[in-house]
Amino acid sequence: MKDVIAESTAAGTGSFEAIRALFERNVVPSYARFDLAFSRGQGSYLWDVTGKRYLDLGGGIAVCCLGHAHPELADTIAAQARKLVHVSNLYYHELQGQLASELVRLIGPGKVFFCNSGAEANEGLFKLARKFGHEEGRFEILTTYNSFHGRTLAGISATGQEKVKKGFEPMVQGFRHVPFNDIDAMRNAISPATVAVMVEGVQGEGGVNPATPEYLLGLRKLCDEFNLLLLMDEVQCGHFRTGRMHSYQRLLEACGGTATAMFVPDGVSMAKSLGNGFPIGAFWVRDKYADLLGPGTHATTYGGGPLACAVALKVLEIIQRDRLAENARALGAWLKNQLDKLVQRYPSVLKTTRGVGLMLGIELVEKDKIPAFAHGDKPASAQFVAKLHQAGLLTVPAGPQVIRLLPALNLQQQQAQEGLDIIESVVSKLAA
Ligand SMILES: *Cc1c(COP(=O)(O)O)cnc(C)c1O
Repeated sequence: MKDVIAESTAAGTGSFEAIRALFERNVVPSYARFDLAFSRGQGSYLWDVTGKRYLDLGGGIAVCCLGHAHPELADTIAAQARKLVHVSNLYYHELQGQLASELVRLIGPGKVFFCNSGAEANEGLFKLARKFGHEEGRFEILTTYNSFHGRTLAGISATGQEKVKKGFEPMVQGFRHVPFNDIDAMRNAISPATVAVMVEGVQGEGGVNPATPEYLLGLRKLCDEFNLLLLMDEVQCGHFRTGRMHSYQRLLEACGGTATAMFVPDGVSMAKSLGNGFPIGAFWVRDKYADLLGPGTHATTYGGGPLACAVALKVLEIIQRDRLAENARALGAWLKNQLDKLVQRYPSVLKTTRGVGLMLGIELVEKDKIPAFAHGDKPASAQFVAKLHQAGLLTVPAGPQVIRLLPALNLQQQQAQEGLDIIESVVSKLAA
């Protein structure tokens, strides 16, 4: 007991070493963490426990769409907490219905189920698909390589990356993977047992890979032809990050208004930016399948609680009021353009950029071509991200060679410029 008190007090001093020691002794070491501990935030800035300030272009991995410590959200949380935090889904409350109706308005005719995370949102869509195919004995869901669909057993089974499955076999039955953006591969993979296809509009963890509009339209046709559900995982790329509510809406603009109007998925999963950091997940299901999950078939205790719904409604209100989709679109395009100039200026370090709106990826050249990184044990992306930390910038690695920018949607141009300056300062040293 004495030990515990002594440790907690040590952490209270705010020293990084003390905080890390507390983790090492008490927290399951399932995360590869960077040596940083944060104590507060404001907008697009975070402060670590030593008082150093960072520009946050990682957004807590596409979560903090309105930045940190947003005063209106803080007020919403406090006011709702004084009124009602939780009631069971045994009962009704007004906010869950309002949030569902707002999401239906933004996505299309259908209904919404609320949960607490992205993995759970996908889990709900998997169950929906199995229910849909059950009478015909269909259960198989096709996903793509380099996808990411969460860390539950079904989530890692659905995810098209070996590293998340390793050590947890056997996988849940009924998931197969095919190459992304390859409509023929998807068509060839369909079996009599196939019931659904799940893809991300823009693969996030896989390295910021946008689907082509032709691929999305092809998937819709394929799913119609074989009576499959088309499920979009918009957990990371959704919620206005690309400049429209969902990434497929934005990506299809390239084909003109009719394509966008024609393309309606059968299910969409959401989480990350939905609550700006307050945990909430959801899936939307198209009207014709909206009543497949009847009473008693699916549930979660916290799902759609009053506090989470109040926050999510406020987030949606602010994004639309402050025209943040437009900001994501315009500032994202400007930022990508500036990053492309850096790629041209420093080809010995930077290979290319990808992405849309404020979901951008910067691909580095191979690790052994960057002398400063060649001998480190960590991948180039993690080493680069660590260098950016030293220079006061937070970004997120994706795979061995890509770093992601997933900033708040209310990022200002001058902050984006500050981020570019920091990236250039690090890149120019690596190139020298
Ligand atoms: C983060 C993420 C998930 C999992 O969400 P959790 O809230 O971590 O369970 C699922 N799909 C995609 C595309 C993600 O980026």
